[in-house]
Amino acid sequence: MMKATATPPWSRRALRAPGSVIGGVSARVSHGARNTGLAVRLLAIVLLLMAAPTSRSQSATNFVLVIHGGAGVLPKEDLTPEKEKAARATLDAALLAGHSLLARGGKSVDAVIAAIMILEDSPIFNAGKGSVLNAEGTVSMDASIMDGATSKAGACADVKHVKNPIQLARLVMEQTPHVLLAGDGAELLAKEHGLKMMPADYFITEHRKLQLQRVQQLEKARKGGEKKAQAPSLESIGTVGAVALDQHGNLAAGTSTGGMVNKRFGRIGDSPVIGAGTYAHNLTCAVSGTGHGEFFLRSVVCYDIAARMEYQGVALTNAAEEVVMRKLKDAGGRGGVIAVDAKGNVAMPFNTEGMYRGVIRANGKPWTAIRKE
Ligand code: ASP
Repeated sequence: MMKATATPPWSRRALRAPGSVIGGVSARVSHGARNTGLAVRLLAIVLLLMAAPTSRSQSATNFVLVIHGGAGVLPKEDLTPEKEKAARATLDAALLAGHSLLARGGKSVDAVIAAIMILEDSPIFNAGKGSVLNAEGTVSMDASIMDGATSKAGACADVKHVKNPIQLARLVMEQTPHVLLAGDGAELLAKEHGLKMMPADYFITEHRKLQLQRVQQLEKARKGGEKKAQAPSLESIGTVGAVALDQHGNLAAGTSTGGMVNKRFGRIGDSPVIGAGTYAHNLTCAVSGTGHGEFFLRSVVCYDIAARMEYQGVALTNAAEEVVMRKLKDAGGRGGVIAVDAKGNVAMPFNTEGMYRGVIRANGKPWTAIRKE
């Protein structure tokens, strides 16, 4: 585990040291050109053009991907070393998948989707396979994506067979004039575009069945007035999300979830609602939330962070802290966000015991954490 330092290992400052590929080529080129004349100079120019695609307005070393796997972490005593290892390995894989796209000059939207798909395919996190169960014991998933360059957004809610709901959110964004499709209509779009569909059983794991039993027992006990069951279980929140800044200076955010354990049939949370669970705009930031969705909906958490930056000129970290650690917390809402601004600054505040999270920058080294560091 990484130790807390004055400069967090995932911050922009921590990564200043390594020189950029383009910078390296450029330095070698000018040295060679001085010594060997025109032919080398020409070769150098060709090399430079190959190394630096013309559309990159930002820097080739200042891209970043941030992910979360939910703010509902297991209590310390239940998170065995094996479970922690598996969770961190999956976070690493998601970070590396997104990084390989960003490093090649890929778009932030693609990196966000690539990372989220890995988390959706893992049974560990509450999205796609391994989604939490509703009160009926079935899975119903929500997802959303927003492109900060275009302000386009897409989302799906209450889908039950789409293997990767984040892909369906993208379809809604790119293939329809709408922002949010739900239920059968959303699944129809997925089928029309050949997305992978799975039987309902695929999404359900033993762990989630036991979790539902536990949470339903707790609920019963709470209704019966038992003291220790007063606080809502942190188990009931999960969700995965990603935010990214690419080499072109474009931001994107995405979120995917099975929602909250034991939710009422038909309940939809914040995750597919643009502004509440997901938001991105190149002028300000990209944000993905995780937590008690009803509070995120009422406080429009993700947009609130961007709005503070836009209208008050507040820095990302301050805006995110203020919203999650004060406003949301004071309202009784538990959860956290991951956020990145157009300069590559990262914020990851959470008011719960922990939040599965990770960051990867140009050096390609994944950083992950679960509790406060
Ligand atoms: N925000 C999600 C929802 O309320 C749950 C979560 O993030 O864990 O559906």
